[in-house]
Amino acid sequence: MLSVAKRVVVKIGSALLVDPESGAPAMAWLASLADDIAAMREAGQQVLIVSSGAIAIGRHRLGLPKALRLEQKQAAAAAGQSRLMAAYERAFEPHSVPVAQALLTADDTEQRRRWLNARATLEALLELGAVPVINENDTVATAEIRYGDNDRLAARAAQMVSADVLVLLSDIDGLYESDPRLAPNAAFVAQVTAITPAIEAMAGDPGALGSGGMRTKIEAAKIATGAGCAVVITRGTTLHPLRGLMNGGRATWFLPQATARAAYKSWIAGTLSPCGAIAIDAGAANALRGGKSLLVSGLISIAGDFEKGDAVRIVDQAGAEIGRGISRYDAADANRIRGLRSADLPTALGYAGGPVIIHADDLVLTG
Ligand code: GLU
Repeated sequence: MLSVAKRVVVKIGSALLVDPESGAPAMAWLASLADDIAAMREAGQQVLIVSSGAIAIGRHRLGLPKALRLEQKQAAAAAGQSRLMAAYERAFEPHSVPVAQALLTADDTEQRRRWLNARATLEALLELGAVPVINENDTVATAEIRYGDNDRLAARAAQMVSADVLVLLSDIDGLYESDPRLAPNAAFVAQVTAITPAIEAMAGDPGALGSGGMRTKIEAAKIATGAGCAVVITRGTTLHPLRGLMNGGRATWFLPQATARAAYKSWIAGTLSPCGAIAIDAGAANALRGGKSLLVSGLISIAGDFEKGDAVRIVDQAGAEIGRGISRYDAADANRIRGLRSADLPTALGYAGGPVIIHADDLVLTG
């Protein structure tokens, strides 16, 4: 599954990346990971990294103790993040692969408008051949709004970019029927087809393992598999962890519940409530049915007060629903550019906007 995936998100925990004694990034290990990722890219795969480690590195740098208050954690993250990125820079340098820091908060992945912006940036980075290195924006994310653990952030990132596989590199090789530290003969679970309460129970008590424990990994697997992304948990402690996984290394695979595309489209059609409607002409309706995007030239009228990133209904001139999609413009701007030619858009808008109102990828036909 990993070798045929087009787009892969790899989540790396602090325990793998940072030497607990010195607080230094584990450079030999990171170089081996960069080798694996460079090889995947050569095989035509796109890879994004979600990396922890900022707090662990920054804690040492600032001489902080082990137990930290929230603002100390945030300070540690600020001091550690730059070193973390420097380590990635160094690891990818021999491969001439550009890395790009992307710091996200929970809101960036859960509010539609910011979600669209973050997604567009990540897509642009991938298109430009960079490896995005994502972490939580710990310096601004306070208690109520923070993810706290990068497992869930990784799942949201995988969902955002419609990844095929999310790899959770851990210090344990996968899921066991009971905690292997307490029950050495616990049976290993190699494949999970659905995350049932029985599977959740295997992960143990929610409070027991804390950040990065099996519980948060199962929660992450739920989000990602529901969005059509396969999830694999494997031990990442040896050199070349991804190559090892490709060669059949021991791991627990969680199968996706739908294709990423199907999950995304059903999210648009079913989960989002439309905030307005866009009436289009017959030519535009035909184009949509042929799999094309909705362009400004086909707009007839706009109803409702939607924001950029909101879901809207697409209707014909008689008001019958043709489809639903995520608008790239808010209602006021869509109205402003209705019927204009592409060349006239920047003047009408006051910024360089494109002719696409709803991209084909963000659109579902419903009628
Ligand atoms: N964002 C935190 C860091 O970079 C880590 C969160 C986690 O370990 O899951 O240190």
